[in-house]
Amino acid sequence: MKKAIVIGAGVAGVASAYMLCKAGFAVTLLDEKPAPAMGSSHQNGAQLSYAYCDALASPSLLAQLPGILLKRDPAYRCTLQADPDFLAWGLRFLINSTSARFSNNTLTLSRIALRSHALLLELLEKHPIEFDYEINGKMLLYPTLESCQKHAKILEQKRQQGFQLSVLTREEATVIEPALAHYPDPIASVVYSPGDAAGRPDVFCQKLVESLQHEYGLKTQFNQKVQRINHTKDRATGVSFRDSAPLECDTLVITTGQSCDLLPSKDRSLGDMWPVQGYSFTADAHPQAMQTSITDVKRKLVFAPLGKELRVAGLADIGQHRFQFMSHRFETLMQTAQAAFPHFFGEDQGPPKRVWSGARYVTPSSQPIIRRGSLAGLYLNLGHGTLGWTLSLGAAEQVAP
Ligand SMILES: Cc1cc2nc3c(=O)[nH]c(=O)nc-3n(C[C@H](O)[C@H](O)[C@H](O)COP(=O)(O)OP(=O)(O)OC[C@H]3O[C@@H](n4cnc5c(N)ncnc54)[C@H](O)[C@@H]3O)c2cc1C
Repeated sequence: MKKAIVIGAGVAGVASAYMLCKAGFAVTLLDEKPAPAMGSSHQNGAQLSYAYCDALASPSLLAQLPGILLKRDPAYRCTLQADPDFLAWGLRFLINSTSARFSNNTLTLSRIALRSHALLLELLEKHPIEFDYEINGKMLLYPTLESCQKHAKILEQKRQQGFQLSVLTREEATVIEPALAHYPDPIASVVYSPGDAAGRPDVFCQKLVESLQHEYGLKTQFNQKVQRINHTKDRATGVSFRDSAPLECDTLVITTGQSCDLLPSKDRSLGDMWPVQGYSFTADAHPQAMQTSITDVKRKLVFAPLGKELRVAGLADIGQHRFQFMSHRFETLMQTAQAAFPHFFGEDQGPPKRVWSGARYVTPSSQPIIRRGSLAGLYLNLGHGTLGWTLSLGAAEQVAP
């Protein structure tokens, strides 16, 4: 039996381990953290946003850039850095902000997402794991007709790809999702994708790992930081750690989220990705809270129902290389959520149960790096940016040899 090693047990790594197990490999999954999904996957926005995989670089973001740089939009903080990697990333991001590139990047992501959804349904038939997964649809709330109409062309292109998408009035949307009655601001139109879903990525990873251990004999090693990739002149042969014996393999998949020093230099390029920090909190759901995932386009906030809880995520802080939890930024998230739905997040609701911050490693095109590496037997599945949970299975399928 051929041996495979997967480095990184976030959503991308666990999905890759699943695909390799199915393909008949003896798989070992490694992570420096003590359990699966302790990195960017941990408490993310939880939306399985198949029909809305829009690339970050776009003409509309470009139009907002002056306001972002002047800190007029609380959702963004951009700290310019004199770092060649940051400058290269920024330049490549701007190049991807044209209308043609935005469409192309978005439609590529949508294809991976469509496949991801089909693969998740297939996975759940065989591994009926519980992770508060519900297909309750998603709604994008647009403040003005103009802001919605800008997306008319891409909506039509996504429909042609097979997505179910409709444009509703506020009244029509409120019949489907009564929680919208509590939204205080004007909503000009709502884009509704009934096939979209939400679920807990951390619980999914933990339960799928358990299931793969049981079903396929998946081996795991946590608290194990990989120090080095071992290789011959042209083939990856395994990995080394600081304190324990090296492991050998025929296939090595890197799912460390970000481009890192482990990669051969030929597999890294200047500005290939940059961290965009975000925040989330999880609270007990108010009895009248939304059952549908909601994205507030004006405030750039996402709301996802998770059983009896509600996850809220947002903010995009760009520029810092190392991220830390900034209380004032988390406060901004709380205040923005309260402004969007005061009825659900008022002071009488008490503090959130869990707060979190993580980084989305975003490539200039928003397309993850899913490809063979420069060594035979080496595969990369990195840079999933804002959508790694949604894309995880579709991306992993492409990487399984
Ligand atoms: C605030 C926020 C909200 C988000 N909301 C959504 C959403 O609603 N829907 C969606 O689809 N996506 C969302 N995302 C994006 C999504 O969370 C990420 O794209 C995804 O988690 C990336 O997964 P990953 O497996 O690539 O990386 P990670 O989850 O970071 O996993 C990488 C793993 O590699 C391990 N590792 C790294 N180096 C080593 C080493 N040398 N040795 C051993 N282990 C190593 C790390 O410990 C880590 O566990 C959000 C992200 C953020 C920050």
